[in-house]
Amino acid sequence: MRPILSLCKNHALLLGLIAAIAASSTAFAQAAQPEASLTPSASPSATPIVFAEQTLADLKQLQQAALTSDYAFKQVAHLANNVGPRLTGSAQAAKAVEYVAGEMKAVGCDVQLEKVMVPHWVRGIETAELTQFPGQAAGTTQKIVLCALGGSVPTPAEGINVDTVCVRDFEELKSLPREKVNGKIVLFNHSFDKHMAAQGHGGDAYGQAVAYRSDGPVAAAKLGAVACLIRSVGGADYRIPHTGQTNYEEGIPKIPAAAVTAEDADLIAYLAAQGETRMHLVLTPQTLPDVESANVIADIKGSEHPEQIVIVSGHLDSWDLATGAIDDGAGVAVAMETAHLVRQLHLKPKRTVRVIAWINEENGSRGSTQYEKDHASEFANHFAVNETDGGAGHPTGLNLKTNPEVKKILEPVAKILQEIGAGTLNLSEHIGADIEPMEKAGVPAFSPMQDSRFYFNYHHTPADTLDKIVPRELQENAAVVAVAAYAFANAEQSLPR
Ligand SMILES: [Zn+2]
Repeated sequence: MRPILSLCKNHALLLGLIAAIAASSTAFAQAAQPEASLTPSASPSATPIVFAEQTLADLKQLQQAALTSDYAFKQVAHLANNVGPRLTGSAQAAKAVEYVAGEMKAVGCDVQLEKVMVPHWVRGIETAELTQFPGQAAGTTQKIVLCALGGSVPTPAEGINVDTVCVRDFEELKSLPREKVNGKIVLFNHSFDKHMAAQGHGGDAYGQAVAYRSDGPVAAAKLGAVACLIRSVGGADYRIPHTGQTNYEEGIPKIPAAAVTAEDADLIAYLAAQGETRMHLVLTPQTLPDVESANVIADIKGSEHPEQIVIVSGHLDSWDLATGAIDDGAGVAVAMETAHLVRQLHLKPKRTVRVIAWINEENGSRGSTQYEKDHASEFANHFAVNETDGGAGHPTGLNLKTNPEVKKILEPVAKILQEIGAGTLNLSEHIGADIEPMEKAGVPAFSPMQDSRFYFNYHHTPADTLDKIVPRELQENAAVVAVAAYAFANAEQSLPR
């Protein structure tokens, strides 16, 4: 599997990397540099003009308009509350595709639905209780709160009732003889580092823990385990489970997989350390045939270079436990707002501004894969690409995966963004799961650099709901994405790759 993936899926070191670099960056100093790049100069060695005065004026106007618009919030509110959970294959996911396409048409975009075949996994019954444990009062059980991991196979309908073995990490599991694991339920009790998240490195904390969700079931099955549990990958202490996709491997038995809450992981670990702890586990998810769905592609044609494309995007699908407000209705809404503002202000981008609402980021990346299949030959003309997929927390700047020279070129843009506290320019290893094929092809990539302290409290839980979005912060994210996108769309020259 790939080493660095999205925040929603697997090894997302991203937010943490970003925060770590940002903490030591000198953004304010950059923003205070003289405006040499803005002013025509006779000197042949001077930095060429990248942003015309008119473009810079337009960027300021876009920023102000984003900060007073309620369009983005209305979009995420509709997706979360009117449409609801949007796991691929669901009626809600289909409705969301139709909704975004309609809204983008209403704004005046040229809209295409590009077909994607998506997985259709459906959650079933998910219950567990400890049926035997040290010190047990006769005739009692203890309830365990959990949720199936995406893609999990089911247990038999009546469930399994077997001993549990609790380990902290892969190394501890590997140190056990096969007979200690064979026929049992393995629990990976690997903690999410809440202190790290509290310091703004939520992505790092997530990246450290999520490997168990992705790869735990395969590791456990290799030693003969009959089911795999993981400690939920997230930061809150409200006995709430976090779902997310898990992976199986060809040739290794597929075993049922679920995430228990942090509190229940502690309980099981405490009891299992004292003696035999048996669990009755019932999981009845189903994998149904693939379903036809689509990426929504909405263009505002460029006036000078229509073939050159600047993408703003988020993923439209969400997990099924909640309404997908922060993951990633917010990202879709911010992308939609960019198109809305460009049209509302009657701006004429030189290059095509393309909104993409991706499908199936959470459990397969089929939308991203299909776009690459259909458009890879055009990537040389994809001028810049954004995906916003880290919630809607206050942005402090822009993450960039670009030639370092692009960071310098963007300094006049950062100066404008600094007016809302978002002027940091940060070179990053990775921007977004859906845009990864374009990142790899060298297309300059960007996203708002967001406050990640609270995101993983709600990520992939039943609590990813609209109330978690602060309208002002969503507006700030829309401002950052719209300003950056329009700057790329109207740059006077091509960017170094
Ligand atoms: Zn996401």
